[in-house]
This record gives sequence, C-alpha cells and structure tokens, in this order.
Amino acid sequence: MAGNRTFTMIKPDAFEAGNSGAILKMIEEAGFKIVAMKATRLTPELAGKFYEVHKERPFYKDLCAYMSSGPIIAAILEKDNAVEDFRKLIGATNPEQAAEGTIRKIFAKSIEANAVHGSDSDENAAIEGNFYFSQLERVL
Ligand code: GDP
Repeated sequence: MAGNRTFTMIKPDAFEAGNSGAILKMIEEAGFKIVAMKATRLTPELAGKFYEVHKERPFYKDLCAYMSSGPIIAAILEKDNAVEDFRKLIGATNPEQAAEGTIRKIFAKSIEANAVHGSDSDENAAIEGNFYFSQLERVL
C-alpha cells in the first residue's frame, strides 16, 4: 500500500526568486497538508550527504554546490498516495520535459535549478524527512 507522506524542498533558485509562497500555495491546493516545515540552508557537506546516492553521477559536485548556494525550505507533506501524487505535481526533472501546469514547468530555471525536490519512494521520504527534522519537530 502506498504511504501517505512525502518530503519536499523548495530549492535555492525558487527561494531566491521569491516563489516559495506561490509554490506552497500550489502544494496546498493540490491537497497536501504541511506537517513539518522550516527554512534553512545546507552546507556543501550536508548537501553531499543528502544526495549521496548520486555521488557517481557527473553532476554531483555541481548539484552539491548549487543546493548549498542559498536558503531552502524543507517540508514533510501528507496526502493519500503522497509520493506518486507529488511527483506528478512537480513534473519531470528537466523543466523542458515537464508537463504544463506542473511546478517545475512554471518555476524551474534549468535541469539542475529545478525549483523543488520530491522524494521518489516511501522509504526515501522517511529517510529524507528524518534528515531534516528531529523527532520533536515531527510532532504531527
Ligand atoms: P529528481 O528525482 O527529479 O529530483 O531527479 P534526480 O534524482 O535524477 O536528480 C536529483 C537532482 O539532481 C535533480 O532534481 C536536479 O537538481 C539535479 N540533476 C539531475 N539531472 C541533472 C543533470 O543532468 N545535470 C545537472 N546539472 N543536474 C541534474
């Protein structure tokens, strides 16, 4: 059975452009409930840890530099079928291939600076939520 939680980040490009509010509005209007949220900033080391699964990929170094280049918003979201539905809402990794009306189609600047993160499995949603939020911050 699909889980009911996912994890998202509003990435530095979208935060810097002042699009956090508009993106959160789209997320809420799509039926997701925010159950934990904070504005924060990754160090390059923490970005490296978060994206460790990608460490052999050619863009890993650039990705870590980009993800630590400015503030982000991290949040845990709740909805039935959360992971799959959220991936649909954000659209393809490359905004040029993202469907019309998706968050990345509207707000992403490039394949790297693509506005938002969305977990790709229930297991990773839990790991990523735990990476950012302590038990005390996950009260809901
Ligand atoms: P996601 O699950 O859609 O976020 O995509 P991936 O897990 O494949 O990649 C993680 C993140 O790495 C993406 O969201 C982008 O920020 C970045 N990324 C993915 N592919 C590329 C690429 O080909 N070049 C660059 N520079 N960054 C990429």
